[in-house]
Amino acid sequence: MYRTPYLVFKSARLESEWSGGGTQKGVGLHPALYVVVLAAAHWHYRTLGKPAELTCLLRTPEEQKAIYPDRRDFRSPHEFGRAADLRTLGLSPETSRLWEEWLNLTFSYRGKAGARTALVHEVHGLGEHLHLQIGPQEAAPKMPESFVLHSVT
Ligand SMILES: [Zn+2]
Repeated sequence: MYRTPYLVFKSARLESEWSGGGTQKGVGLHPALYVVVLAAAHWHYRTLGKPAELTCLLRTPEEQKAIYPDRRDFRSPHEFGRAADLRTLGLSPETSRLWEEWLNLTFSYRGKAGARTALVHEVHGLGEHLHLQIGPQEAAPKMPESFVLHSVT
């Protein structure tokens, strides 16, 4: 996977997931998630002059239950490779709001009506962050066998 100077990782696990490592159960990241995260990281760099920090990608069902112990049926797009969290610590509330707004204007959510691609929120135990998500209706094309359309012989 393309390494970008616009993004840094909170942990080696995250870098592995981003690079296609997936999880033990074979869950990988949605191809559109890369597009949205890279665009968000580019915006962050243009605005603040430093890379965005990725703090969460994939989450196991056990990790999800640990975060939401009272909502055992509550599933997260992080469990299905359709979400990423970026750090907002140190950003002014106005900057966080502009970041969220730009992402929602640029990337419509394809799925449940009223849901949004970007959401700055506070989750118990995780602190405030920018949550990015890809809707279940978003197309996930297969990787082609070759990216070269025409070869010159
Ligand atoms: Zn999240």
